[in-house]
Amino acid sequence: MTGHAVVIAGGGPTGLMLAGELALAGIDVVIVERRTGQHVDGSRAGGLHSRTIEVLDQRGIADRFLAAGQTMQVQGFAGIALDISDFPTRHNYGLALWQSQFEPILAGWVGELGVPILGGCEVVGFAQDDAGVDVELSGDTSLRAEYLVGCDGGRSLVRKAAGIDFSGLDPSTSWMIAEVEMDEEPELGFRRDSAGTHALGRREEGEPVRVVLTERLLDHTGEPSMDELREALVSVYGTDYGLRSASWISRFTDMTRQAASYRRGRVLLAGDAAHVHPPHGGQGLNTGVQDAVNLGWKLAQVVNKTSSESLLDTYHAERHPVGARVLHNTMAQVALSSPDDRHQALRDTMTELLSMDEPRSRIAAMLSGLDIHYDLGEGHPLLGRRMPDLDVHTADGPTRVFTLLHDGRPVLLHLDERGGFDVSPWADRVRLVDATHDGVWELPVLGEIAAPRAVLIRPDGHVAWAGDLTDAELPHALARWFGADTPAE
Ligand SMILES: Cc1cc2nc3c(=O)[nH]c(=O)nc-3n(C[C@H](O)[C@H](O)[C@H](O)COP(=O)(O)OP(=O)(O)OC[C@H]3O[C@@H](n4cnc5c(N)ncnc54)[C@H](O)[C@@H]3O)c2cc1C
Repeated sequence: MTGHAVVIAGGGPTGLMLAGELALAGIDVVIVERRTGQHVDGSRAGGLHSRTIEVLDQRGIADRFLAAGQTMQVQGFAGIALDISDFPTRHNYGLALWQSQFEPILAGWVGELGVPILGGCEVVGFAQDDAGVDVELSGDTSLRAEYLVGCDGGRSLVRKAAGIDFSGLDPSTSWMIAEVEMDEEPELGFRRDSAGTHALGRREEGEPVRVVLTERLLDHTGEPSMDELREALVSVYGTDYGLRSASWISRFTDMTRQAASYRRGRVLLAGDAAHVHPPHGGQGLNTGVQDAVNLGWKLAQVVNKTSSESLLDTYHAERHPVGARVLHNTMAQVALSSPDDRHQALRDTMTELLSMDEPRSRIAAMLSGLDIHYDLGEGHPLLGRRMPDLDVHTADGPTRVFTLLHDGRPVLLHLDERGGFDVSPWADRVRLVDATHDGVWELPVLGEIAAPRAVLIRPDGHVAWAGDLTDAELPHALARWFGADTPAE
């Protein structure tokens, strides 16, 4: 039986990101993926939100995605457009990029980091003991690992086999989705009727038309047929616009469920395996990628024995509330999209509210992921929040904070000429960078904040501590997040 430190079930967006993070930290990781390649059926997710672009920027790979997509104001709450161009981030926009384009680019990075992908292979079961996990694969083979992470999507076998409860709401509405060729030019945009909202769209001339139709009945089984699609188009638009062919037809619902626990012993869950919700607001892929960035460095530190297993508990503690909030806001968006007059009146009211600055910035910061605040206790406003990508000046010249995070290692950023700190007990793990920054510190929603003299930044870009280097809390924060102090060699 072959052994690896970590086996990841599923090489979708979440599994790929996690594999990259682990490989960056030098961990022996393998992905087991049912598909034989990175082909994605249909277009699925339509793009990236600001915080996801930021986390890719923190690894020096955002440009690859930006070059392939189109930056624009993509955010919407139940279709009510929200502009974030005034947000204090380098990426004050979203990126229109289909999942079918996103995955191969991410897979390219993971390949450069040398992660093997066992394609055309499924995880079919596992058994864990005190020392590791035996992962059973299709074809009667198995792998031994210290940890198994289920990034195997909404129907996650890993979650089911681990016996983790997946409670929530059953579907109330079903949508048919397709990518089609039509002989006639259809009416592009949204249309509302008594069934709900329907949409026909294409991003560029010559692309297939993307169809999303709210279905009148919920109790469907299996994928829709071409005849069903034609019938549904005629019932909404009075015509099928000369529907010629469909490269992909599927359906999705507003089922809303979350794993009760993101970890059971040596088995963890991330991405859709941990949370499913309707695509309103376009948050699924983004949340999965960010789960991976939260988990990656923690799992790496536990595997290489820098930290104890208890560090993994912070993964659930930090990411479960973020997932719950996504579920909650998608439930609200589904309600606001209901076609009846009362819900439409509520929607009009929300549209008015969201045209005001503060409500807009609050909701937009939530959807973009820029306001995520892990509860790390009382302290400086930065504590638990994302570190802004400041322009700084170091002994090596000008740089950006995100550039300092490219290698996925924690950084103790010292921004004051006075004082110093003996980081040598952690020097093999934490980089101390002396720098200066001219300018204000500003966070989305909160606005301007007091500039701290030093900041301890985790590999995921969240602030673990902020203050003065003489603060007695600093050694505790270093030990809590990056392992006990050890005398420098
Ligand atoms: C119609 C639609 C529109 C969407 N729109 C958006 C959007 O606009 N924005 C957004 O952010 N998200 C959107 N999403 C959601 C997004 O597609 C998912 O959230 C995202 O793909 C989740 O990534 P994942 O890696 O966690 O899971 P998946 O993408 O489901 O990947 C799971 C992987 O695991 C593999 N697998 C499954 N079981 C096994 C097994 N037993 N062994 C080995 N491999 C296995 C699968 O082949 C797959 O590759 C949309 C989804 C749909 C369906």
